[in-house]
Amino acid sequence: MDRGFFAGKRILVMGLGRFGGGLDSVIFAARLGRQVIVTDLANETDLAAPMKALQGFDNIRYHLGGHREEDFGPEGADIVVVNPAVTPENPFVRIAEKAGKQITSQLEIFFELCPARIVGITGSNGKSTTTTLTSHLLEAGVGQSGVGYQRVWLGGNIGNKPLLEILDQIEPADVVVLELSSFQLEQLARIRRAPQAAIITNLTPNHLDRHGTFEAYCRAKENIFIHQSLNASHPALSVFNAEDPVTQGWFEKYQVQTGRLCRTFCPADVPADLAEVFVLAGPANRANLAAALAVAEYFGVAKDRIHKAVASYRGLPHRLELVARRKGVGWYDDSKATTPISSIAALEAFDCPEILIAGGYDKHIPFDEFGKVIARKVKAAILIGQTADKIDAAIAAGRTVDSRVEVHRTRTLQEAVQLADRLSRPGDVVLLSTACASYDMFRHYEHRAAVFRESIEALDA
Ligand code: ADP
Repeated sequence: MDRGFFAGKRILVMGLGRFGGGLDSVIFAARLGRQVIVTDLANETDLAAPMKALQGFDNIRYHLGGHREEDFGPEGADIVVVNPAVTPENPFVRIAEKAGKQITSQLEIFFELCPARIVGITGSNGKSTTTTLTSHLLEAGVGQSGVGYQRVWLGGNIGNKPLLEILDQIEPADVVVLELSSFQLEQLARIRRAPQAAIITNLTPNHLDRHGTFEAYCRAKENIFIHQSLNASHPALSVFNAEDPVTQGWFEKYQVQTGRLCRTFCPADVPADLAEVFVLAGPANRANLAAALAVAEYFGVAKDRIHKAVASYRGLPHRLELVARRKGVGWYDDSKATTPISSIAALEAFDCPEILIAGGYDKHIPFDEFGKVIARKVKAAILIGQTADKIDAAIAAGRTVDSRVEVHRTRTLQEAVQLADRLSRPGDVVLLSTACASYDMFRHYEHRAAVFRESIEALDA
C-alpha cells in the first residue's frame, strides 16, 4: 500500500460511533502516522468501547460531545473522513467544503487504494444474500485454471474484517466482493468510482427520510453503474433485475455502450439442476442466485464448480432460515425481513399452508400490498407489536371471497409461538417475518430471532 497516502496532512475523522463505525478509518490514518482528531456528537462515556481499541496510539486527539466549527474551518484539518451516516448536507461538512477541505470516507479510501478488482452489490432487498452467494460462487473458482482471479475477499457490512484493515493483504490478482448502500454509492460518486462488476437486486422505496424522493434514491443507486470504468478489452459487468421497471430501463440505456457487458436476471434464469440443489426457498432467492451466477460466469467459474457451490450454500442467519422442524411443521426465522416487500417475498416462497407471525415497530411504510398477500395466501396471521392494528386493517381491506385467513393477536412473541404451535398441522410452515423493525419489543432483529428460537424450544419443555 502507498505509505505516502495523506502525507503531511492533518486528518479529522467525523463520527467514531458507539459501535465503532469510524474505527477503521481512525486506525488507518493513525497507523500511517498522521495527526488525527476524532470528533463525535457522543461523549467519552458513550464512546468508551471504541476508544479502548485506540489506546495504543499517541497521535490521536479527541473532540467529543459535539463538533467544533474550527476543526472544519480554514484553520482546521486538511482532510475530513466522514462516517457513512453523515449526510452531505451536514452543516459541518458544508463548512469544510467551503474552506476547500478534502472530504472523504472509508469506502473512498478503499476504492482509491485497493489494487484488486471489486464486485459491488446494491439494491433495496436481498443485498446480503446476493453478496454472500456471489462470494461463495467465486470462492469455488479459486485454483481453477483460466479463472480470472486468485483469491476472494468478502468485505463491507457483512465481511469479517473492516476494509482498510485488510487493504494491505489484498493483491492485484484478487477480487473483492462488497455490499454497497445508497449512502456509500453517493460517497463513491464524489470520486467518480464504481465497481468493475456491479449488481442491482431491485428497487423499492427505502431510506426516503434521507434521500427525499424515490427518484433521488434511484439516482443514488444508479451511481453503481454510472461510474464504472468502460474499457473495450476488459469490459465492466453491469447486472440488472429484468422484473424491475426502473432497472430494466437502465439495462436498455446502458447496453448500447461499448466497454460494458450488460446482463439481466430473473428467477427463471436459474437452470433446473441448480434450482434443485439450492437451499433457499422462493422466487426472490432464485433471483438473487441468478444475479450471482452472472458474476460467476463473467469471471469464468466452471459449471461443475458452480453446481457444487450452489449445493453447499447454507444461507445467512435470520433470512428465511429453517430453525426447527417439529411434528411435520417447518419453523422459519425471517427476522431480518423488516419491510413489507421482504415479508411478501417470504410468503411467496412457500406453496404449503402458512402461519405468519408479523408486526413490530412502526416505520410508517404502507401495508396494503402485504395485507392483500396475507389475505390471499396465509392460513393464520398472528399479530404482535405496534403495527398490529395497521396490519389487521390491511388484511381486512385485502380480503376477497376466497380468503380464509384467521387473524389473531398476542401480547408477546412467546405467546405467538405457542398459538402457532396449536394452530399448525403437519405440512404447514410457521414463519416469523414481521415486515417491521423490532425496536418496539426487542433490542434488534437478532434479539427477536433469539426469543423466537427459545420460545420454540420451550414448546417441548
Ligand atoms: P438486505 O441485505 O438488502 O437487507 P438480505 O439478503 O439481508 O437483504 O435479506 C433481507 C430479507 O429480505 C430476508 O428476510 C429475505 O426474506 C428478503 N429477501 C431476500 N432477497 C430478496 C429479494 N430479492 N427481494 C425481496 N426480498 C428479499
